[in-house]
Amino acid sequence: DTTAARSALDALRAEIEHRNPAQPEFHQAVHEVLDSLAPVLAARPEYAEPGLLERLVEPERQIVFRVPWQDDRGRVHVNRGFRVEFNSALGPYKGGLRFHPTVNLGIVKFLGFEQIFKNALTGLGIGGGKGGSDFDPHGRSDAEIMRFCQSFMTELYRHLGEHTDVPAGDIGVGGREIGYLFGQYRRITNRWEAGVLTGKGTGWGGSAIRPEATGYGSVLFAAAMLRERGEDLEGQSAVVSGSGNVALYTIEKLLALGANPLTCSDSGGYVYDDKGVDLDLLKQIKEVERGRVADYAERRGASARFVPGGRVWEVPADVALPSATQNELDEDDAAALVRNGVKAVAEGANMPTTAGAVHLLQRAGVAFGPGKAANAGGVAVSALEMAQNHSRTSWSAARVEEELAGIMTDIHRTCHETAERYGAPGDYVTGANIAGFERVADAMLAQGVI
Ligand code: GLU
Repeated sequence: DTTAARSALDALRAEIEHRNPAQPEFHQAVHEVLDSLAPVLAARPEYAEPGLLERLVEPERQIVFRVPWQDDRGRVHVNRGFRVEFNSALGPYKGGLRFHPTVNLGIVKFLGFEQIFKNALTGLGIGGGKGGSDFDPHGRSDAEIMRFCQSFMTELYRHLGEHTDVPAGDIGVGGREIGYLFGQYRRITNRWEAGVLTGKGTGWGGSAIRPEATGYGSVLFAAAMLRERGEDLEGQSAVVSGSGNVALYTIEKLLALGANPLTCSDSGGYVYDDKGVDLDLLKQIKEVERGRVADYAERRGASARFVPGGRVWEVPADVALPSATQNELDEDDAAALVRNGVKAVAEGANMPTTAGAVHLLQRAGVAFGPGKAANAGGVAVSALEMAQNHSRTSWSAARVEEELAGIMTDIHRTCHETAERYGAPGDYVTGANIAGFERVADAMLAQGVI
């Protein structure tokens, strides 16, 4: 019954905190999933099998390594590299690499854990993993980025392979970095193994729409949640946080669907543009010049203002798409969104909404799409890139976009139906966690105690 399941889950929670000290984001991500599982454990006794959950929360393998590199002045720096190979029951480990000074083992474990369920929800045969480094790319020259990537891959390559572990980008890792990483992998292994990394350039094994996929997908997910409530995304205003790859293509898709994106942000503050974000200008500043959103406000003219240190959530809007980083939307922010009448929140970033904020939004009746469902479009198109690599073909942008739209619709439907089946209609958190869990757990049970 549910009470027994709940007390078993509480015991497991305590055990996880004890065994993984000082990893608050990992605890947060695990608790968020375990919180949803009591009804499915009570309904399906096979999932209560001893050891299943214990295996699920322990990574299959954790790799931590030294990354020495020289800057342009010849000074040696030492960073730490990580790859957490969390779960391969459904396919090769798959998940991005994050280069950011906040990266540590606990952060990589939280991201890897989320990735297991996200990847399961895509239905595409990919396991869960994540990696990265505490390297700060900000202000580094191209040559420094290249040397860092080469050093990072000089250790990481031995753990990778198209059937073993397939990284991609995340914060701080885009097309440029994937290029340098791929070059070094190819040189060390003497193998032209396209399927070992995704997010490659389209001229050498990359997929059309991969850079766009996460942002496009999260807007499609928000649109699906609105449609479920009899509303249309067209004409709705939106607040978007961040100004990286996810945020840019979130803004692009909002514009394409006739919605009005009002904001973007970075660590310095946010821009509010009452005419709607000018995507060409923002792309020029972020992708070409690698500049800051403050520059956007300066060049955009009267419609835009820069709010130093502010948070976009204070801007009234119909839809919110947190697309920057973990825990960027807390209870106060959620209260402000609710006060201003927000209808839907879809997570483009991984775990951007704190647990308290999620509950507050859901209690207020806001449609909330958790990252493992709403931002699964990125990794889904990575899996399509792998499929193209295996068959040595490349698909048209139109074909990839159609596949992406179909996958996002399926994920939305799966989450919605699963939530209903377990007595939590409209609760996409419960739906995503249970549906992702069922798929991974079934594969783990079938494959035995390994
Ligand atoms: N970093 C992205 C994510 O959080 C994409 C991972 C991938 O494409 O492997 O899902």
